[in-house]
Amino acid sequence: MSELKIYNSYTRQKEIFKPITKGHVGLYVCGPTVSGESHLGHARPYVTFDVVYRYLKYLGYHVRYVRNITDAGHFEEEGREAQDKVSEKAILEKLEPMELVQKYTNLFHWGMRELNCLEPSIEPTATGHIVEQIDMIKKILDKDYAYEVDGSIYFDLKKYAEEHPYGKLSGRIIEELLETTRDLDGQDEKRNKIDFALWKKAPKEHLMRWSSPWGDGFPGWHIECSAMSSKYLGETFDIHGGGMDLQFPHHESEIAQSHIAHGCMPVNYWMHNNMITINGKKMGKSYNNVISITDLFSGEHELLEQPYHPMVIRFNILQTHYRSTLDFSNEALQASERAFQRLWEGYQTLLKLDVNDFGESTIDKELEEKIERHIKESFQDMNDDFNTAKVLAQLFDLLPTINSLNNKQLDSNTLDKSLIKKLQNHFKIMIEDILGLKSMQEGYNKELIDGLMNLIIEIRDQSRSQKDYATSDLIRDKLKEFGIQLKDGKDGAKYSVN
Ligand code: ZN
Repeated sequence: MSELKIYNSYTRQKEIFKPITKGHVGLYVCGPTVSGESHLGHARPYVTFDVVYRYLKYLGYHVRYVRNITDAGHFEEEGREAQDKVSEKAILEKLEPMELVQKYTNLFHWGMRELNCLEPSIEPTATGHIVEQIDMIKKILDKDYAYEVDGSIYFDLKKYAEEHPYGKLSGRIIEELLETTRDLDGQDEKRNKIDFALWKKAPKEHLMRWSSPWGDGFPGWHIECSAMSSKYLGETFDIHGGGMDLQFPHHESEIAQSHIAHGCMPVNYWMHNNMITINGKKMGKSYNNVISITDLFSGEHELLEQPYHPMVIRFNILQTHYRSTLDFSNEALQASERAFQRLWEGYQTLLKLDVNDFGESTIDKELEEKIERHIKESFQDMNDDFNTAKVLAQLFDLLPTINSLNNKQLDSNTLDKSLIKKLQNHFKIMIEDILGLKSMQEGYNKELIDGLMNLIIEIRDQSRSQKDYATSDLIRDKLKEFGIQLKDGKDGAKYSVN
């Protein structure tokens, strides 16, 4: 088999993957900030790195997959006073900060399960690793690359950049950053505008606070990932992943502070997935196009014409290589829904082929060669920087053959039993084990429920046309209690089960 190549964002080239310890891989992926609901932009990195995790395991590696939960430390730097996002949101939602964190962590886990993402080996939280973060900050202070101002500690980025290749990962140029970074009219207590906080002094009313050698405060965002990744994976580890938007400043800061604290580069392979656009637009609050994962599955958001099954979302993400931008639109998702159904039906048809109908040896050499070539090439595609888009294309190419064998257009006697077994096994490995796709009908009898739901929708339509809104509302509300959502669209109502 060909060797696994990974595109390293740091060196900007594909490199043959060689783990630090033979047979073992350390994989760290930046987890969500749990001050709010996860959205579409979160779905892509976690599905992407779930496939990376699954494939490394398939290759026989023992993988330690660490994905953190940012439950403290995420804040915008605004002069002297900064407020942690969790603290801020807890006040808004009238919850204890840890109550808020639990609520959104639970919701995140639910979304991950729906998307069939495997659980990480370790899921450390920032608040559970304050001691490690303080220790690391102390090391940076000892080496004189950080300074204290009134209970807050800042990383001296200007000094670091003078001696080290800062900005290599994200392509930022330090001189430009020095010029363009916002000056806060003398409110800023930092020596240089580009320095970042390792520790922030907590104002009196700040809910989240821990004692430190510098007084009560809370950690900066960047330091948590460096402290936790080095604790569980070592001072230098194999793969660090995340969305491209994290390259700067988050990952650049991780590199700088880890380099100083530990005297080595923290990561051998940096992997970044590209961004998601929605109907061609960047995702952002100002466009009102930040679609939460819950909305995506229920079809609630005004941009959605219908609910989308988690497997349709996952399939849609995998249809594009992770380093290309991915545009979400109803048309694209509906096309993915049809394509995924076709692939799944073809896969089920393949599994139902009776191996005993096939011959003892292959007569149709050309077909045998075609099947063998597709199997081989789909592994080459995975080895070529996890090209799931090409793997799916390989599987689709085999569907006509499967269908022809099923409807006897192709004579099964001309193919060897073992080749069919191999093909069945290949589809299972690729679709279920590596790409992590599963049936959309899992857990219920789809045909029966479809029939019943169509009946219920018809009754509801009738009551509405007779202006009997009490009945139509009752139907909708009762269905909701069962976890069934109705969404009205151009071609009548559609339903989804949560
Ligand atoms: Zn991180």
